[in-house]
Amino acid sequence: MAIPKTSPANGSTHVADLDASKLIVNLADTLKPIPEDPHFGEHKTDHMLVVNYDPATGWSVPKIKPYGPLTLDPASSCFQYCPNVFEGMKAYLGPNGEPRLFRPERNMERLNRSAQRVALPPFNADELLVLIKRLVMIDRRWIPTKEWYSLYIRPTIIGTRTALGVAASDSALLYVFMTPSGPYFGNNTGGIPLLAVSKTVRSWPGGTGGHKLGLNYAPGFLTQRLAAKDGYAQILWLLPTGMDKEERITEAGAMNFFVVLKLDDGGVDIVTPPLDGTILPGITRRSCIELLEAHTAQRTVLPGVPATQRLHTSERPITMRDLAAWLNEGRLVEAFGVGTAVAVLPIGRIGYEGKDLVLPSEKGLGQVGKALLERMLDILTGRFEWEGWSEVCEV
Ligand code: PLP
Repeated sequence: MAIPKTSPANGSTHVADLDASKLIVNLADTLKPIPEDPHFGEHKTDHMLVVNYDPATGWSVPKIKPYGPLTLDPASSCFQYCPNVFEGMKAYLGPNGEPRLFRPERNMERLNRSAQRVALPPFNADELLVLIKRLVMIDRRWIPTKEWYSLYIRPTIIGTRTALGVAASDSALLYVFMTPSGPYFGNNTGGIPLLAVSKTVRSWPGGTGGHKLGLNYAPGFLTQRLAAKDGYAQILWLLPTGMDKEERITEAGAMNFFVVLKLDDGGVDIVTPPLDGTILPGITRRSCIELLEAHTAQRTVLPGVPATQRLHTSERPITMRDLAAWLNEGRLVEAFGVGTAVAVLPIGRIGYEGKDLVLPSEKGLGQVGKALLERMLDILTGRFEWEGWSEVCEV
């Protein structure tokens, strides 16, 4: 279903939409010291954005205020039935020290789609983006200058209905906070080990895996903890399908999954599972596909890849049986995960049925992965202008 850019919220036409021009800014009296080497998610910036939705009046006046605890009724829907949705985006500093966001309208659109999936009120995506840019500008001193570091932005909407009946939350709280972040998996450039799991599944047809809902993540925590004890960095989520229970690869942790296959004609086939509703439509995933297509169409030349090299892209199911066969035949030349947190990360091993499949990316990214990582970082930091993907925060 199409999401309206501007709400009538919850079907009503007489309530206020989100309006950035009404923003009230209340700055912190004292600013926090900025950590030298921030760990992902540990330190929050000085300020946050907060807006309430009331079914009678709509979206309240947005406020940027000092970062701090929220006050919520214990019966709030978010604590009971989990209508909680969020986004993950990053601000990088450009060549002239200007804060930049990567394709942020895509995060706004996905947030609206996630909200719709759990019947939370819609919001005007353009107005939220203006508010986020203001927040980034106010706390811009928190954007790290080191290579690979950035300021992670977490827009969140939670249901705040206080009546306990099992029903959609008619009230909501939208808030945005930020945290400086270093490289997600440290400076390790070798391939990470994944554990392929199908006994517990992350998503299923008709479920919520294609949306960014908080409730998609908690059911994977125990599996992830057990896998970590065996030395695996993340879970490769499989989904048994069809009569013969073929195990399809869906995603790897909070990353979309890619493999690169050698073709007989000298080209390569870059394959990622299709968006069938069980996979989060990653913004990095789409961007990588578009960059590969642009190379093949000779609209750009990816770093380290000959201009004449054809990079075919294909969104089609990948099963564990396919993966093992490609590996045996020597056709599989690279495997990597992509996402906002990691950009592009090599996958070195996959634990499956008691054995480890050792992949060619064990020592690090191959030609395609490297090209994507380098080009993505150059776009994210504004060193390479590409189709307006990197937006300067100017408000
Ligand atoms: N898959 C899952 C389950 C995620 O949580 C994420 C991160 O948001 C991704 C994939 C990658 O999406 P994106 O590239 O938009 O960050």
